[in-house]
Amino acid sequence: MKAWAGISALACILCLLVLPACRTEPVDIHAGAYTIDTHVDIGINYATEEVDPGIDHPRLRCDLTKMERGGMDGVFLAVFVGNWGDLTPEVFERAHETAMIKFEAIHRLTEQMHPDRCELALTPDDFERIAASGKRAIMIGIENGIVVGEDLGLVEKYYDLGARYITLCHSSHNQICDSSSPAEPLYNGISDFGKQVVAEMNRLGIICDVSHISEKSFWDLIEISQAPIMASHSGCAALNPHNRNLTDEQLKALAENGGVIQIVALGGFLKAETPEHREAMTKLREELELPDRRTMYRMSQEEREALRPKLEEYDRRRIEIEKVYPATGLKEYVDHIDHAKKVAGIDHVGIGTDFDGGGGIPGFNNHAEARNVTDELIKRGYSAEEINKIWGGNLLRVWREVEKVAAELQ
Ligand SMILES: [Zn+2]
Repeated sequence: MKAWAGISALACILCLLVLPACRTEPVDIHAGAYTIDTHVDIGINYATEEVDPGIDHPRLRCDLTKMERGGMDGVFLAVFVGNWGDLTPEVFERAHETAMIKFEAIHRLTEQMHPDRCELALTPDDFERIAASGKRAIMIGIENGIVVGEDLGLVEKYYDLGARYITLCHSSHNQICDSSSPAEPLYNGISDFGKQVVAEMNRLGIICDVSHISEKSFWDLIEISQAPIMASHSGCAALNPHNRNLTDEQLKALAENGGVIQIVALGGFLKAETPEHREAMTKLREELELPDRRTMYRMSQEEREALRPKLEEYDRRRIEIEKVYPATGLKEYVDHIDHAKKVAGIDHVGIGTDFDGGGGIPGFNNHAEARNVTDELIKRGYSAEEINKIWGGNLLRVWREVEKVAAELQ
């Protein structure tokens, strides 16, 4: 919890005792918490004149203006790279090049475009200092270890550029591990090379992110990681048995490991679509001649950019369809937080929206609406201390522990 919030809470308790007139003065729990989102995607043209995160950008669910309005202190921007073809040296090289473009974009944002409003945080202490200064803290995660290729040295290069977590894979198997899709495994868990990558991440102080990896890969990671792990944007399988969600057994193991699940705000992961809803969405995709999800994931950023007008149309019409088939909203979102709390404990749940990568639900469609989550948690009886743990306290603890393990391994 931010120091001043603790003091104001104490002051308010004193008020309650001695000054009846103060009893109506509420403590701003949301403003008092460290608020961190562990997963927001960025496009290839991020932090350019075309996509300026400094303005209230119509295309972005996360930009500095919305973060300021919603009282968000920090965000992990994802250096996402897809599996664009078979696992060949050419594909690895292309993944590395794309990753570099995104690293450069994030550095451009914090160092050239808006250094007065945001700053890159490389440590939890950095984060706290930046949040206290009134700026937004920008952190970096890599989504898809494919960017490491077969060169272990790249892990340190990415660390030096600011990466503090790596999602081991995306929606296909890569050189590190099996993904949650397709179901047919390639290695039956983490590959031999992947085990070296995990060891290098532990040594450097990079959090291992299990979102997207297969269940067997998860259990392998629990065995081999010397530091706590994280699911940067996942849900609970008990509420929706999607292959991207964690089972109760996984949640318990995550708690034992000292890690954290950051609940994803993507409707399809939170609640299974009804057949009618699915049919309407399929029809829309067909009408707009959009490729299926798997093909989309394999597309390059340039190919995706070319599809952007259609995707924007898709997004608009999707919202219309969701009015007919009541979409997954804030209630279902906080249900997943409740469930993770019940199974893993309050110290092991947080928030990772997947904004600008598919995330966004009615009531929590962008960072300007972040307070709605806090309000729903308060309505359900969560204390200020619990809310602070969910919004950022747990993530900071995990990050510090990962740093500590790295220091011991140096
Ligand atoms: Zn993802």
